[in-house]
Amino acid sequence: MRIFKFGGASVKDADGIKNVFSVLEKVGHEDTLLVISAMGKTTNALEVVIKNYFEKSNELHSSLQEVKKYHYQILMDLFEDEEHDVYFAVNSHFADLEYFIRSNKSPNYNFVYDQVVSYGEILSTTIVSYYFAQAGLKNNWIDVRNFIKTDNTYRDANVDWEKTQQLISKGIKKKSLNITQGFLGSDENNFTTTLGREGSDYTAAIFAYCLSAESVTIWKDVPGVLNADPRYFDNAVLLNQISYREAIELAFYGASVIHPKTLQPLQKKEIPLFVKSFVNPLLPGTSVSKGKDLEPQSPCFIVKKNQLLISLSSIDFSFIMEENISEIFALLHQYKIKVSLIQNSAISFSVCVEDKFGNFNELKSILAKKFKVAYNENVSLYTIRHFTKEAAEMVEKDKTVLLKQISRETMQVVTKE
Ligand code: ASP
Ligand code: MG
Repeated sequence: MRIFKFGGASVKDADGIKNVFSVLEKVGHEDTLLVISAMGKTTNALEVVIKNYFEKSNELHSSLQEVKKYHYQILMDLFEDEEHDVYFAVNSHFADLEYFIRSNKSPNYNFVYDQVVSYGEILSTTIVSYYFAQAGLKNNWIDVRNFIKTDNTYRDANVDWEKTQQLISKGIKKKSLNITQGFLGSDENNFTTTLGREGSDYTAAIFAYCLSAESVTIWKDVPGVLNADPRYFDNAVLLNQISYREAIELAFYGASVIHPKTLQPLQKKEIPLFVKSFVNPLLPGTSVSKGKDLEPQSPCFIVKKNQLLISLSSIDFSFIMEENISEIFALLHQYKIKVSLIQNSAISFSVCVEDKFGNFNELKSILAKKFKVAYNENVSLYTIRHFTKEAAEMVEKDKTVLLKQISRETMQVVTKE
């Protein structure tokens, strides 16, 4: 069996959905399971609905209306017959969603988030499934919540592999075309859970693992995995082949092509992952598999903007020792500040971090009781895997380098633009 994952961008409008159909016509659709994300930016739009709900905002109704309008427009573009069954199916999903919002009593934000945001994937797969059927392509719509079982860590649920494996082995019909939702699962009480933002790649990997699939393909609007983000670098090149290990490294340093959790289950069973273009589906794209580390052998660039470089030194010129360092890390962890680089000398300790949740100010006052705290805001962290002299020069050109770290395969520079 092959697992195909189509993300939000590939199904963002009627033409996108028609294109997914044409991709399947070109590459075949037998013995295939499609994992599909919410259409376009629907997850973000539903996040706004949830926020409005908790803030008791007047905008609650209009924010929900927007999600509806967007989906009904796509329906009208795809189905001429206003009596088509798909309208009943979509109406009833929206009615369920509205009923939940009206009657919910739980004050648990994360719980409510998962119950609401999941409609994005339920709606997208419903629409795609009916559209394929109308176009003559028989398929099974599968509610993924009957297959992927998780704990109840809402918004970041952990898969119960044993139960999931059992359900998938028993319940997924091979030989046909199956369509299911990315990102979702369900807990012991059958409440909906989600696997973390952008989690649909991971869903594809879970199915691949449990079905011992022949391959996973992630269909994208780029030709495959590039050695650099074309928004920041000219002359990005397509990587034909990367090893699992290299892909894990790239994801670790912040390359956003593949969701980091995705690779582990695939690597365990040596299931190849292809990243291909849904615009040119017959091109080979990138293969992530066992074998050559990197082909072509070229430096890979990863940029993280909007980082914070913090330097701590001891107030009394004493050494920064293990116990200080472990205390610093405990605090960073407590304040949910993610560390992307560490460097230390006798009396100072520097970390480059990402303060996603805006907690640094609070942390700073705690650190200041023990250390001299210096910091630079809004710095960029460049990572070059397989760096060369030219690659390093290119990154450093016209920038002020605040910190540099070099290991055998990887070079990292923190710069002020
Ligand atoms: N729709 C979800 C999100 O936007 C899952 C995904 O796209 O992978 O985060
Ligand atoms: Mg999405």
